[in-house]
Amino acid sequence: MSEPLLHVRGLQGFYGESHVLHGVDIDVFPGETVTLLGRNGAGKTTTLRAIMGILRRRQGTIRMGGTDLLATPPHRVARAGIGYVPEERGIFASLSVAENLTLPPKVAEGGMSVAEIHRLFPNLAERAGSQGTKLSGGEQQMLAIARVLRTGVKLLLLDEPTEGLAPVIVQRIGELLRALKAQGMTILLVEQNFRFASAIADRHYVMEDGRVVAEIRREEMADKMDLLHETLGV
Ligand code: ATP
Repeated sequence: MSEPLLHVRGLQGFYGESHVLHGVDIDVFPGETVTLLGRNGAGKTTTLRAIMGILRRRQGTIRMGGTDLLATPPHRVARAGIGYVPEERGIFASLSVAENLTLPPKVAEGGMSVAEIHRLFPNLAERAGSQGTKLSGGEQQMLAIARVLRTGVKLLLLDEPTEGLAPVIVQRIGELLRALKAQGMTILLVEQNFRFASAIADRHYVMEDGRVVAEIRREEMADKMDLLHETLGV
């Protein structure tokens, strides 16, 4: 296989004195969709925050392409080619959809134009004049992803993109992530919706107590159901 786009080794993370990540190992290869699975509190969100440098107290190795992310200040991480959509989505609620889409700075070559975004998200084209607060949860999630796609990142980190969304919208987000994958996007997502995760991902990492305790490839899923029952309760 090729070199990983994202390479995480022995990642330790701390909130103040509280030691939360105990040596996380993750590789994401170009074009892959990978999920982080695990119960509440396993350290999934903290892992994404540590990769982005939002969690400052961290040790270990995090490399994105040729860039050492541990030595990169948070405001420069996007320039290494990573976009992050947090659970709370981070759109500008008081601005319109169109304004939300024109604000993001281009950090790399290949950022999508607004026309490309509208092709991929026809509902955002229809809602261009609507204020962020007027959008449904699904529309907000799509806008949050679209904003990041405008910047030209190569790796998308998504924290529970399906949380709180109706099944039909979850399906729509799944189609969208598949379309992005088909265009070559690399995706690492935290997901509690196991059915959704298994439908879209090439590979899964199972986290427990701040560590990766298992790696499961798509084709191994059926054989690993016992382990998943045990660690996730699915
Ligand atoms: P969830 O789905 O509940 O977000 P998670 O796997 O993403 O689960 P994290 O949010 O990464 O888990 O939390 C990992 C651990 O860190 C938990 O024990 C949690 O209580 C703790 N933690 C999370 N945020 C903070 C914080 N801001 N300050 C202190 N401890 C925190």
